[in-house]
Amino acid sequence: MPTKSSFPDVEIPSLDMWAFMFNNPEKRNFPDSQVIYRSATNPKRAYTFAEVRSAATGFGEGLQNLWDWQKGDVFALYVPNDVDVGPVIYGVFFAGGIVSPANPAYSPDELAFQLGNSGSKAVITTVQFLPNALKAADKVGIPRDRVLLLGEQRDKDHRVKHWTNIRKTSGALRYRRRKLHPDNDLAFLVYSSGTTGLPKGVMLSHRNVIADLCLIRGAVGKWYETGKDKILAVLPFFHIYGLTGLVHQPLHRGIELVVMPAFDLKLFLTTIQEQKITFIYVAPPVIVRLARDKMVENYDLSSVKMITSGAAPLTQELVDAVHKRLKIKINQAYGLSETSPMTHTQPWDEWYDSVGSVGKMFPNMTAKYMSPEEKELGPGEAGELWLAGPNIFKGYWQNDEATKDAIAEADGLRYFKTGDVGFQDENHNFYITDRVKELIKYKGFQVAPAELEGKLMDHPLVNDVAVIGIEDREMHTETPRAYIVHAKRAGEAGNKETGLPESDQDKKDAEEIINWVASKVANHKRLRGGVRFIEEVPKSAAGKILRRMLKERAKKEPSTS
Ligand code: AMP
Repeated sequence: MPTKSSFPDVEIPSLDMWAFMFNNPEKRNFPDSQVIYRSATNPKRAYTFAEVRSAATGFGEGLQNLWDWQKGDVFALYVPNDVDVGPVIYGVFFAGGIVSPANPAYSPDELAFQLGNSGSKAVITTVQFLPNALKAADKVGIPRDRVLLLGEQRDKDHRVKHWTNIRKTSGALRYRRRKLHPDNDLAFLVYSSGTTGLPKGVMLSHRNVIADLCLIRGAVGKWYETGKDKILAVLPFFHIYGLTGLVHQPLHRGIELVVMPAFDLKLFLTTIQEQKITFIYVAPPVIVRLARDKMVENYDLSSVKMITSGAAPLTQELVDAVHKRLKIKINQAYGLSETSPMTHTQPWDEWYDSVGSVGKMFPNMTAKYMSPEEKELGPGEAGELWLAGPNIFKGYWQNDEATKDAIAEADGLRYFKTGDVGFQDENHNFYITDRVKELIKYKGFQVAPAELEGKLMDHPLVNDVAVIGIEDREMHTETPRAYIVHAKRAGEAGNKETGLPESDQDKKDAEEIINWVASKVANHKRLRGGVRFIEEVPKSAAGKILRRMLKERAKKEPSTS
């Protein structure tokens, strides 16, 4: 039997994101002067609710006036976290556009892939990432005047404009906010590899994101105090976890968000202490630092009411270590890009009763567990988690086949096959225990094996390759490892049993491959799990890589990378 959420259903208003945030005054219980975004590095840089609305309106009018921005045009973000991101996103919504965020750690080629695949019409970056953005824009034919900057710094060489210069400055013509359909029009195109293959655009409608905000509110909203709480933004805004939880939620709830450009332990601790932060969303690597780093003991972190960890599994060992050391409570959340993203979280008052679990499923959602043959499993049995609800994405961008594989119509519902394996206990707590999809997560960041395999096949020493995730228990993360059939010494390179590079030549070749990959990809995709040389990549009769076999093999191998 499918399971309904243990929370009562909540209402999801039929509005687009702009109307939901700004034209909904009776639902708002905080003033225009409420600070929404404040910079952690320069606290004088801040936006109140009213300032977000007016900056976004100016930008949205400018986009239509100067660029003839059309409904459905895609606008790419290639930026570290900054207080300008929220106003820019809402400006794009004002003009009817779709926002596609990319990791600023991407190489020009990685960014060009996303710009090209999404058909982006413009890209915004910061001075630091401008050289890469320009290379990628040139590659896909985005003209220079469609590359913009945000943040404190301007381009000294005057190559590109700052976003605040894209405003309607004169003329009587008024530009209206574009009318958007909550269900049919997209708010975001975020990139995820889903179950298999290369990164794909995940289509999230305005309704999807609004639904997730309403579901979060229904599940854990009562623990936030409007106008009093302060959230620290360390999660990246280029991931939907950061967008929904950090960019939109504060605007929806009237909570101040203190924005860090990137994770830095000292800035993290200082900001908590000085700004009296009450709530933080993180991925497990931050919890590892809190559990182990000596510096942590020099700070007063007593203002923190709860830290929520998501994006990758969190162990009880880490929760205990941090609680014992700092008396800070940590709860766990779960979700995916395709679910806008959050679907589960541990209630704050039960954080320790169900430690290890990802908590309770959000309101308005239904779940069931399936066997590999797609037979529904009984209560408590472990299987692939399927989820239905208003936050489930529309499909993959221009990829009907991947959409068809990911979605199943059943029980009168539209289920999304998460590719995650788990079970549910009798108290409605969900547990995630494994993954049936290819995805590797390094410190919460996605690594698509197919993408690395595609790159590696271009290397002259590689005849065939499969990439899998290896568990690094010490660092509480997975790392990508390549199993390679050597192009010149197939079957001879590497130890016969373990595949470990042995001879000087093997070691040189492995190092050459690892460094070559590192020169081409973002930091989180590096082959930190090392290289193994094998005789043959195990494949099914249809030519599909049998990753399970390699995973089993890896478990028996020595852990040295
Ligand atoms: P993304 O689309 O980048 O958000 O990645 C989603 C994937 O991250 C999920 O399918 C899970 O495999 C993993 N994930 C997210 N949160 C958790 C969690 N709390 N525990 C275990 N895995 C998680």
